[in-house]
Amino acid sequence: MAGKKRGGSSFTAASNNKRELDSIFLFTTGKCNQKCAMCFYADDMAKKEEDLSFAQIEKLSQTAGNFNKLWLSGGEPTLREDLPEIIETFYKNNHIKDLAMPSNGMKPDRLVEWLKRLRTNCPDLNITISISFDGFGKTHDTQRGVESFYRAAEALKKIDDNFRDDGKIIKGIATVITKYNENEIPDFMTWVFGRFNVYTHTIEAARGMTREDGVKICTEESLNKLQDEVAPFLPLYAKRIGESTNFIGRGIAKYFYVGFIRSMYNIRKQNIEKPSCWGMDCTAGETTLVIDYDGRFRACELRDPIGKVQDYDCDVQKIMHGDAMKKEVEEIGHGYKANCWCTHGCWIIASIVQNPAQMFAKLNRANREVKKLARPINISEDLLHSMEQKYGLDTAKLKEIGVL
Ligand code: SF4
Ligand code: SF4
Repeated sequence: MAGKKRGGSSFTAASNNKRELDSIFLFTTGKCNQKCAMCFYADDMAKKEEDLSFAQIEKLSQTAGNFNKLWLSGGEPTLREDLPEIIETFYKNNHIKDLAMPSNGMKPDRLVEWLKRLRTNCPDLNITISISFDGFGKTHDTQRGVESFYRAAEALKKIDDNFRDDGKIIKGIATVITKYNENEIPDFMTWVFGRFNVYTHTIEAARGMTREDGVKICTEESLNKLQDEVAPFLPLYAKRIGESTNFIGRGIAKYFYVGFIRSMYNIRKQNIEKPSCWGMDCTAGETTLVIDYDGRFRACELRDPIGKVQDYDCDVQKIMHGDAMKKEVEEIGHGYKANCWCTHGCWIIASIVQNPAQMFAKLNRANREVKKLARPINISEDLLHSMEQKYGLDTAKLKEIGVL
């Protein structure tokens, strides 16, 4: 592979009508240092199978060919000691352009150290680092099952301090909506926007089989209301991205950022209570491959495993062109046959770029909707301070970690 050109974007491949491997979702480890109420992977992690070895992951990389995006998942990815080597392997062998790296933020110093290393060893890689941040203080801690609010805040602050002007590092926050934080999300989004220099803050309804029963409370109506309420944040974040990154022009950044996030939200709310056609093909199993921490593989996260990579010599070509994947893709039938339309943002985004005509229709509509929902957002110091009082935050602690 060495010397080959870094691959074109997902959109370039899609516009050439090629449905080829675009994204690998790698569950790096079955270990985690949190106990989230809404964790959909708790049962899998409880099996305590062994993580794939570096040699097995290296073989997967050596056989995958060029693809665009590596989405990491877990468990908590930072608990995998050889994670930087794994990412560098995919960068070298597969010419990945984008890395999506989620973390619960429990290890702020390690995150910064690893990001520095990746910036040196993978200079062309766009890295989206997304910290889980679910609500104010105790709400976050209750939802996450361990005290971690100030750790996550510290991680966000340290990443910003170290990579403020680095256009290759996209700093984001992901908030999962549950019964614990549902009522404070608009306040939380306001506080986060005012206090942290992040480029994106997405909300996602809890999905799959959760660790705790009864945490999934979103209905189509409640999600619709919430998503409309937070829509005015989308142009604000788009403006920040446009001003702070160097990979895309400002007007284009706004159109695509607002369009993609709002379109994803639209599809999600339509599927929260029952499956409802996305209005475009789902490309799971054609452009995406999910590899669990122990080697089981799937076309998408929400469908059952269909084999183990170990039984395919860890060869991605054999996996993608094998009978099990062919059968799975046939059964999914681009979503129409399986009628398994879901709320999963990663697959909605991974599929939307493979459907260019429908994509632009959705982006145009989403931009029009967000424009209509625009309203001024108050992020005055007085308001932020009053929220810190209202939600009982430890301001001394926030000062200590540099947030205030
Ligand atoms: S949701 Fe993520 S951080 Fe929380 S317990 Fe599950 S794997 Fe760990
Ligand atoms: S619609 Fe959702 S659940 Fe069904 S295959 Fe696509 S990503 Fe998976």
